[in-house]
Order: sequence, then C-alpha cells, then structure tokens
Amino acid sequence: MPKDLYNVLGVERSASQDEIKSAFRKLAHKYHPDKAGGDEQKFKEINAAYQVLGDAQKRAQYDQFGSAAFENGGQGGFGGFGAQGMNFDFGDLGDLGDLFGSMFGGGRSAGRRTHRGQDIEVDVTIDFKDMAFGVERAIDLHKLEVCKTCKGSGSKTGKTRGCGTCGGSGVERVARRTPLGMMQSTATCGACHGSGTTPEEACGTCSGTGVHKQPSHIEVTIPAGIDEGQVLRVRGKGQAAPYGGPSGDLYIRLFVKRHRTLERDGELIRSRVRIGFTQAALGDTIDVQTVDGTVELTVPSGTQSGDELRLRGKGIRFSSKPGDHIITVFVETPRKLSRKQKKLLEDLDHRI
Ligand SMILES: [Zn+2]
Ligand SMILES: [Zn+2]
Repeated sequence: MPKDLYNVLGVERSASQDEIKSAFRKLAHKYHPDKAGGDEQKFKEINAAYQVLGDAQKRAQYDQFGSAAFENGGQGGFGGFGAQGMNFDFGDLGDLGDLFGSMFGGGRSAGRRTHRGQDIEVDVTIDFKDMAFGVERAIDLHKLEVCKTCKGSGSKTGKTRGCGTCGGSGVERVARRTPLGMMQSTATCGACHGSGTTPEEACGTCSGTGVHKQPSHIEVTIPAGIDEGQVLRVRGKGQAAPYGGPSGDLYIRLFVKRHRTLERDGELIRSRVRIGFTQAALGDTIDVQTVDGTVELTVPSGTQSGDELRLRGKGIRFSSKPGDHIITVFVETPRKLSRKQKKLLEDLDHRI
C-alpha cells in the first residue's frame, strides 16, 4: 500500500496550500541527508509527497484517485508525472532549492529524462440505462499520436545521430555557485529534448518531433453502476509525447442522464407506483417500468401505502451481484364518491 501523502507531510486533508508548504519546509530541513540526523529515504518520501500535494492540481487528482493517479513508469509511487516529477518548482524555497537541485540533478539521477505526453480529460454523458447495464463507448479525439511516417523517430531517413550539444547524454550540466559552494545541476538537453539523438534529416510530417495531431478513435468500456462525476482513467490514451516519451492518460468524467421515473440508490433502482384503493385491498397484477422494459408486478392484497415491493435482479447490473428494483406503492384514496359507493364503503366498514 502506498503511504498516505498527507500523513507523510503530517498535515490534515483540509490543510491549505500554505500549511502544506510550511510542513514540507520544516520536514525537508529536518531530514535533509546532508545534515546530521538526516534521512535520505525519508527526505525523498517528503519530496514525493510535496510534488503532489504542493501543486493544487495534482493534489486534486490525488484526492480524487489516490496514488493510482500517479502510478506509471515503473518507479512505484509518483512516476506518473515522469520527468515533470523531477522538475521541482523551488519558487521561494531559497537555498533549500539549491540543495534539491544538486541532489536530484547533479547527484544521483544521471541519465536521460523523457517528457511524458499530456493527459486529456473529456466529459461523457451516458443514459440511465447504460449506467445500469454498463456500455461500450467510442470516443473520437483529435490528438497527438505517434507519427506514422517516421514511426515516432522524427527522422525522414530513419537514421539518427548522436546529439552534438549534450554528447548523447540527453542532459546538459550547469554549474552554479550557491551558499554551500559550487553545485552542479542538470537540465534536459534543449537540442535533442533528452533523447540523446537528433534526426539525420527531420521528418516532414511531424517536423522531427515524432508526433502529430490526427483523429483518434478510442473504445472504452464503461462499467455498470458508474456514479455521476466519477472518472475513468484510460492509460496511455492521452497525448503522445514528442521525442519518444510515454503517452499521457485519458481521463473520462462521466455524467448520467436523469431518468423520468427511475432513480438510482446504490445497487438499487427505485421508482414509485400509484394504485387504487381496491387494488390495494384485493391485490392485483400491474405493469411497471424497469430499466429493462415493462415488467408485471404482483401487488399482494392488503398492500399499504408506502409499502415497498421488490423486483429481484432488476437494479444495477454489477457483475458480482445485480441489485434489485424497489417499487414504493402509493395507494390513492378516492376523492369523490357517489352516494352508492359511499353506502357500499360504509357497509364494508361495519363488516371489517
Ligand atoms: Zn514523423
Ligand atoms: Zn542533446
């Protein structure tokens, strides 16, 4: 189980961005590995947590999807943001920023950094019935895809050569003077965008980026019982990344159309039906509308207003165990009675 990021920073879920930042600074100072009593593992954990919670947008994603939103790229934890995860936004952290820069840049994380493609978010509205049964939906987007002409290499001839700017490492090193002395930090090479190679001749279709916008048809299975506002994540179906990074993800936010007579209640579907006074007393078979069409329902004799009748398996079709459809019965008491009807009821009342 991944650790709860709020626990890692020791803040409440309701903490403000300022409180999160301040908790992070305190802990980062305390556990910095260069300090006596530092703890590198802990320090990294704190950092990873702050990368998410310190960014309002990522924090919102985390709140909604948990750490699942960030599982990608095989690092466990926060690889989902790929190279971005390493692009610390030091902002006003001052010297602490330099320490991080040296640690993550010039220090241990040698090698190339590829950029991940951007995520795409789309809204999809489904019918109540599709919500109850689950549905296959096709989503058509115009998005960045790997270039078919060069198969993503960006090279017209298919050949590449080592990047002259970074010598093929994909990173450029920059030395900076800091209060702690000279620190080396690194940045993704601007010439080859971290790939370490440049095309011999740029592909005409994608201008050497390896991606270009094209129509994309994506089939998605929407499971039964989705809730309004719930988000499905389709891995790797976001924007393709230029220069060979992993694709982003597609997030589908679902909306469910209201039904005229049916309502959802967890795995149940609920509706109401009005029956006459006599039907309630004597019992009857009536037609009721379900998500699966019209069904006959037996109203037992002696049914009271407010009684609930159950149609088994006519609720939300969760594969594990379909829910039921509950029908609340309302008995209509006659408002106008003829003289004869009144007499009959009075006689009836005396006999019961
Ligand atoms: Zn191309
Ligand atoms: Zn380069």
